[in-house]
Amino acid sequence: VTSSVLAVDHAWLGGEDLAPNVRFTISEGRIESIEAADGRGADSIAGIAFPGLVSAHSHAFHRALRGRTHRIGGDFWAWRNPMYELAGRLTPDRYEALAAAVFGEMLRAGITTVGEFHYVHHRPDGTPYEDPNAMQGALLAAADRTGIRITLLDTLYLTADVDGSALAPEQRRFSDGTSAAWSSRVRALAGSVTSERAKVGVAAHSVRAVPGHDLEVVFRLSDELVCPLHIHVSEQPAENEACLAAHQMTPVAWLEDHGLLVSRTTLVHATHTTEADRDLIARSGAGVCLCPTTEADLGDGTGPASEYRALGVPLSLGSDSNAVVDILEEARRVEHHDRLRLRRRGVHSPAALLRSATFEGARALGWDSGRLEPGALADIVVVDPEHLDLSGFDLVNGVATLVMAATRASVTHVLVGGETVLSPGGSSLPDEAAIGGAIERAWR
Ligand SMILES: [Zn+2]
Repeated sequence: VTSSVLAVDHAWLGGEDLAPNVRFTISEGRIESIEAADGRGADSIAGIAFPGLVSAHSHAFHRALRGRTHRIGGDFWAWRNPMYELAGRLTPDRYEALAAAVFGEMLRAGITTVGEFHYVHHRPDGTPYEDPNAMQGALLAAADRTGIRITLLDTLYLTADVDGSALAPEQRRFSDGTSAAWSSRVRALAGSVTSERAKVGVAAHSVRAVPGHDLEVVFRLSDELVCPLHIHVSEQPAENEACLAAHQMTPVAWLEDHGLLVSRTTLVHATHTTEADRDLIARSGAGVCLCPTTEADLGDGTGPASEYRALGVPLSLGSDSNAVVDILEEARRVEHHDRLRLRRRGVHSPAALLRSATFEGARALGWDSGRLEPGALADIVVVDPEHLDLSGFDLVNGVATLVMAATRASVTHVLVGGETVLSPGGSSLPDEAAIGGAIERAWR
């Protein structure tokens, strides 16, 4: 058995303070032991280690929209037009290159695990590729190539709105036609995964895209595969209004009515929820994934994060549209959005925000990581306290300084399953030119 040692000047081991002079012994991809030394070791990295960051909600291809959707103005619904145009141009080859570029960017930002909420399944006219899992395979290959840990959330998408209306032509490639066809394709996909760093989970796109009885099919498949279940919910008030008109229930109550609110469920956004919705979520043990930079970018509104926190709802974070790929930025935006909304400061504890950025994301995606403890997967990030982001680093306020000031630019080392994928010595991750090239080809 080969083991390795990572020694750092400081580490966040889960509490309100940083621990000094920490040595991690890593064996077979997991943290075997953690020792605190009296003094600094000669091999110690002059940095602060914390668990690998987790983006629990991503649509990798949206990265190619970055900066290109502002001119059109409008709202969330208008933004979907260029998004659909881009989705229409993807092929398995283009998508593999684009996703590898995005996953590489994520790793360079200290994101060691991604939850890829994936719905671009078939040919543009909706007919399957020769291999019906060609697009899904492209994403898994991209993850494998870069070394990121992935939960591929294969997403059921059947209708255009809550009233069951038929898909628009540009949505056809998202659909398997029936939830039964989707189930058998996802079963085959799950059975084909060989990488230790990949898992298949399931998702329903939203209450707009999946009728009630099909939501139950999604639930049954998550039960059968023992995997996470994710769904977009109440991102926009219009979804709530349409759901109330069609079912006389809010989207959250509709999900509860169909048995989907359980502890392995993650509700993405949950921005426009009622107090009754939040009580239902809290009682069920389901989590909420907040995506503050995307919610700001799309003009969704600011969600009730502090209300969820007070109810004990697990809160994870997602880079979602990847307009910004920086989970530390998502963490501080949760606090910032609540400061703007509630006009007070210090709403969330720094440790709770860092836990959302790490452990809660890993939990939402079904991984035993996001914590620096013996037995956990050795997904570890190190930041440089002398980087411009952090210079003058205040050790007394170490965790707060980390959450409120560090960015992806201060990341120096990234380990996934104990394997170094980024260090000052270099990396084989896609560089800026490769990312630019993949985006250019995606639009061609
Ligand atoms: Zn999303």
